[in-house]
Amino acid sequence: LVDLKKEVDYSYEILIGTGFIDREINCFEDTGTALFLVDENVYNLYPKLFSRVCCFVYRAEEKRKNFDSVKDILSFFKKNRAHRKNVLVSVGGGITGDVGGFAASVYMRGIPFVNVPTTFLSMVDSSVGGKTGINFDDVKNLVGAFYQPQKVLIDTGFLDTLSGEEFMSGFAEVIKYAAVFDRDFFDELKKSENLKSSDFLRYTVRKCCEIKAEIVKLDERESGLRRLLNFGHTVGHAVEIDSGHTVKHGHAVAIGMYYETLFAFRKGDADKKVLEELRGVLSVHEYDIDYKINNETLFLDALKSDKKAADSKLVLAVAPHIGEGSIVEDVSAEELMECVKESV
Ligand code: NAD
Ligand code: ZN
Repeated sequence: LVDLKKEVDYSYEILIGTGFIDREINCFEDTGTALFLVDENVYNLYPKLFSRVCCFVYRAEEKRKNFDSVKDILSFFKKNRAHRKNVLVSVGGGITGDVGGFAASVYMRGIPFVNVPTTFLSMVDSSVGGKTGINFDDVKNLVGAFYQPQKVLIDTGFLDTLSGEEFMSGFAEVIKYAAVFDRDFFDELKKSENLKSSDFLRYTVRKCCEIKAEIVKLDERESGLRRLLNFGHTVGHAVEIDSGHTVKHGHAVAIGMYYETLFAFRKGDADKKVLEELRGVLSVHEYDIDYKINNETLFLDALKSDKKAADSKLVLAVAPHIGEGSIVEDVSAEELMECVKESV
């Protein structure tokens, strides 16, 4: 008899290192079962890596994170007669990982998926945790699935070619992890030296992945603890929309962390020291947190369309003390926007 009660094990390996990815890709070549989805810029920057594998090259842009791209990837699977023994290896930033993971989750009701993040943001945040998806009808990440990768391969060597702006976009998420979960880590981030040294990169990526893995283990579906990872994202999301995506995700999150904390402070939910410490770390790393809203109606709609919102009220993740995040419910979007406006 088959044991129908066998426990499902969602655990997976996360390899973190520098300069090991060619070896891993060689292993896929040997098995011959991998299909690759590769970010176009990464493909052009590292052509040798992909010369012997079967690739679908994808231009990763937020406006192309949609059903058309998923359809193209599914056609690529079908054309290559993919079946459940094949594995999709997605190589790129958060967009490529989100779209690739989603396509893998629906093809034949799910084929294995390996994530190879190549931006700092995807290394420290999006590649671990199993959220996959696409934008739909102008709403970010509205359609998707929780689908855990089989493996995550993080080679910090990819960061050599990443722009400074994209790098700092990822670093804002690192500050978020520290502010909400780890006081000592936060103190280490106050220093500005050597952010790009291999040792520091591996240490930072490892720290963030450990924190995220722990949280996802306890709350995969974001009903409790995982909501704390949204610190900075409610206002951040509105800034992204209001700026027409000229402010990159992490930079918008940096702005969001500051104004959400300012709001919490004014409501008596955070103390002044936290606000000062946050401002301090953001200014050491030269984030521009003064934000002037372009279109108040759009900004307010974006705050309200935050899909974590219950009814008309918002739910905010805040850090009342550095290293100890918590949730504030029943937040009025109008009051939150006033806070962003007043402090310019
Ligand atoms: P991205 O995927 O757009 O990559 C940013 C840019 O960097 C792109 O132009 C890309 O071509 C380029 N690039 C990638 N790797 C490079 C490299 N090594 N060298 C040079 N250029 C390189 O952006 P991102 O910031 O990685 O991800 C943002 C996306 O991630 C958003 O769509 C967001 O919704 C999603 N996200 C998902 C989760 C999750 O849990 N699934 C979490 C956070 C963010
Ligand atoms: Zn984010």
